[in-house]
Amino acid sequence: MNNLKENLENIRSRVDLACRTVGRSRQEVAVLAVSKRHATERIETLYSLGQAAFGENYVQEALDKIKRLESLAIEWHFIGPLQSNKTREAAGHFDWVQSADREKILRRLSEQRPAGLAPLNVCIQVNIDREPQKSGVLPEGAAALARLAATLPGLRLRGLMTIPRVATGDHDPSASYRRMKALFDELREAGAEMDTLSMGMSADLEQAIAQGSTLVRVGTDLLGPRPAGADA
Ligand SMILES: *Cc1c(COP(=O)(O)O)cnc(C)c1O
Repeated sequence: MNNLKENLENIRSRVDLACRTVGRSRQEVAVLAVSKRHATERIETLYSLGQAAFGENYVQEALDKIKRLESLAIEWHFIGPLQSNKTREAAGHFDWVQSADREKILRRLSEQRPAGLAPLNVCIQVNIDREPQKSGVLPEGAAALARLAATLPGLRLRGLMTIPRVATGDHDPSASYRRMKALFDELREAGAEMDTLSMGMSADLEQAIAQGSTLVRVGTDLLGPRPAGADA
């Protein structure tokens, strides 16, 4: 099981410290373990250590894991780019979709969420740095999608998600995270009921928490380097 226990303790202390540093309550920030490309055995081990929320990026890979781990009370989050021909599987097997970024995807998830299941928790993914290649709605389009998600049956709007521009010398992700928090507050003031601001990964969770993240998505620093394969 190598060092999963130690990794989990480290991440929890980093989150504790990040919250304390900026005077936020530890209860405001949850950790999502990003398990893409990692074996189900590692997910099982982390689960046995108390980590119950897992994020996956590839629908087919995730369905296989969800099936093999169906006896565990895992909360599954889809966080990868979602094509419209995969919405049925996503709606049928995940508890959350964090990467909804257009009307067509929201409508399909709503129509395809099985009636016997609780509403699908949805975050709108925002392309906060307006990067041409990146998934996510541009910031000015987020309000309309949030309003739509809030009204569609079978969906429960939970909040916003972002992946900022890769940090380089002259670009600090804090600025992107600050703009996301401002957008989140603006939509809430306009009436959107949202409790989740999903931002921050292994390298920058402290900066994201300082700017108001309520959910950090941690892969590498929790599960280790990802085995080779196509990355997202
Ligand atoms: C892979 C991934 C992560 C985790 O990234 P790490 O840097 O390994 O912590 C978080 N969010 C999304 C959307 C991802 O695809």
